[in-house]
Amino acid sequence: MNKKLAQRICAFALALALGISPGCAGKRIAQNPQSGRIDVQQQGGNAFSLEQEVQLGQQAAAQTEKELPILPESDPVSQYIRQLGQRLAAHTPEPKFNYTFKVVNQKEINAFALPGGPIYINVGTIQAADDEGELAGVMAHEISHIVLRHATSNATRQQYAALPLSILDAVLGGSSSTYAQLARLGLSFGAGSVFLKYSRDAEREADLLGAQIMYDAGYNPYSMAEFFAKLEQEGGSRGPEFLASHPDPGNRQQLVTQAVQKFPKKSFGRKDSPQFEQVKSVVAKMNPMTGEQIAQWRQKQQAQMRKAAMEQIRPSGSFQQLNHSAFSMGYPSNWEVFGDQKSAVTIAPKAGISQQAIAYGVVVSAVQPSPGSTLESVTRSLVNSIAESNPGTQVADTGQLNVSGMPAYSVTMRGPSPLSAGDGQVLAERDTLVTVQRPDGSVLFLVFIAPEQDMAALGNTYAEMLQSLQVR
Ligand code: ZN
Repeated sequence: MNKKLAQRICAFALALALGISPGCAGKRIAQNPQSGRIDVQQQGGNAFSLEQEVQLGQQAAAQTEKELPILPESDPVSQYIRQLGQRLAAHTPEPKFNYTFKVVNQKEINAFALPGGPIYINVGTIQAADDEGELAGVMAHEISHIVLRHATSNATRQQYAALPLSILDAVLGGSSSTYAQLARLGLSFGAGSVFLKYSRDAEREADLLGAQIMYDAGYNPYSMAEFFAKLEQEGGSRGPEFLASHPDPGNRQQLVTQAVQKFPKKSFGRKDSPQFEQVKSVVAKMNPMTGEQIAQWRQKQQAQMRKAAMEQIRPSGSFQQLNHSAFSMGYPSNWEVFGDQKSAVTIAPKAGISQQAIAYGVVVSAVQPSPGSTLESVTRSLVNSIAESNPGTQVADTGQLNVSGMPAYSVTMRGPSPLSAGDGQVLAERDTLVTVQRPDGSVLFLVFIAPEQDMAALGNTYAEMLQSLQVR
């Protein structure tokens, strides 16, 4: 099960806590008509603080670097990219971030930036750059996405877009780390994240600011637009990932030309550095991995992790007690409670959850029903919400029961697990939703999650947990 449901519940509370309203992202950059300078304006519509931005990016970088083959820092190609990156980063406007530049040993042309500083360039991009200006252009463009905080303002908007239920987790805990919270909200900033797909507006902005960074660093800003035009023409198998996340805003060259015409006149006599020539000859001899090979490598890694994880997932047989402000419940002593004691919690074996998904465990949260709704209608909208955020999920069985003396509903659903078997086939998952009314009128709900094939081993544990549940 993915974590979108929790995201929907928490995002609204997050917005309330921060006092911002949806859809308020303003214009972020403008060109001064006199000086021609591109100014970064006050940024509205971003729910993240600069500290959160940096923290997020660092944690996403740690995850990314587990999933991609990164060249060692000591590699001459890494060293060169770092130097070139720092030369460009010296010309960035506020907010100042600590930029890092790493090289992914991947064949396809791609580059991406994570919030607050980390930037990754594929070997394929260096292979495809005909001169240093083209490479600098891609990097200046990525740097600009970071300066303009496009990923987090995107994420801010996505949160609002994902609010079909007018439900509100009344008590959002704030003690866990930003990333843990965001993981609970279902936001992912890792490689291939949906939040790294930029809008055409964001592309236009990154092109304009990128042009100025190029100009200030002594590179011809047209090189950036030219490289993108080359990618568009080439199409094919080498650069689609880059173009998918950086869509053409429409006549890039014209846009850059118009902006550059307003910059003070300057000639760009700069030739490629000797280091660029050296690195070009190094990468020409390299045989980077294809995206497909990387995916296979990652799948093998995951299968091994799953095997090891099963040992840790099996319930120990002894129980400990969770005393939450809304309920109390027993749970296996070798499992953990994630989340604040006052907010939604996930009770799971550490090996059963990842940043994006819960494969084993129990999610417990509460909703405040709108006036006039019944426990049955609340149950139904929760089922719909789960099905919507977990495509392929279907209701298998519904029933009524009694939980700690209160009427309750139980709905069993089947759908795809986030896990796949050794052969790559996606496992089937069984989720059981239990809803029960609390004395204050809100509805406590629990979702018991496990792959179908492991339900036999976990079913008794889940039944025992439910039996021990006391609603407050
Ligand atoms: Zn872009």
